[in-house]
Amino acid sequence: MYSIIPIPAFTDNYIWAICNPETGAVIVVDPGDAKPVEAFLQQRRYSLIGILVTHHHMDHIGGIQSLKDHYGVPVYGFEKSKIDTLTHKVKEGDTFSLMGLEFSVLEVPGHTLDHIAYTVNEDLDKPALFCGDTLFSGGCGRLFEGTADTMFSSLAKLKSLPAETQVYCTHEYTLSNLAFARAAMPENNDLTRYRDSCESMRSAGNPTLPSTIEIERKINPFLRCDTGEVKSSVSQQIAKTLTDERQVFADLRKWKDSF
Ligand code: ZN
Ligand code: FE
Repeated sequence: MYSIIPIPAFTDNYIWAICNPETGAVIVVDPGDAKPVEAFLQQRRYSLIGILVTHHHMDHIGGIQSLKDHYGVPVYGFEKSKIDTLTHKVKEGDTFSLMGLEFSVLEVPGHTLDHIAYTVNEDLDKPALFCGDTLFSGGCGRLFEGTADTMFSSLAKLKSLPAETQVYCTHEYTLSNLAFARAAMPENNDLTRYRDSCESMRSAGNPTLPSTIEIERKINPFLRCDTGEVKSSVSQQIAKTLTDERQVFADLRKWKDSF
């Protein structure tokens, strides 16, 4: 039985720890800081056996070197990334096995050009997606390197994953994303219910993550650019009637940037 536990880092990052409590083995995803990971491992007497990285931003890679020096573990990341601490370079469609789990790699450029995501489809209770800063609950990553079109295609890949897939994103941005989602989808009842439940989770000091692909398809405006509700609010916002889904996405992303 595996458990997937968020290790909080910086102000709103989660370093996801995939743990096998029986053996004490742990894989961490995007360790931007080594200290909270070391504290987590020491506290539970667990040992690190691998690191997965989604993209090159410092808040995702800052702790790798020190964890690698200390534990000598393999570090997985995108083959075309400039991250210099990788030991195992992967690309779209690759699979690899670590700690008895079979991981698959998806290329999801947009936030950065070297962004990848990892899925585990068979070996956990429910399929899992580790998507870094590409898909957030209620939102998506900013376009630092890719175009809106690139990001749209990447999100389309994630949207088509099985509905029950658990979505492990790297930041606790949910409530602020949902405030924007409300502006883009003022009459969406699923969104209202979801926001209420996320607000209670946050007031109790709990993470709102993981989300699921099923939830995101219902409440994330960036996955709903094909719907009348998002099309009409974006069209209203830019005072121009949009019909093309990709154009709606591009203008929705711009709107969010200045929200
Ligand atoms: Zn990032
Ligand atoms: Fe980040």
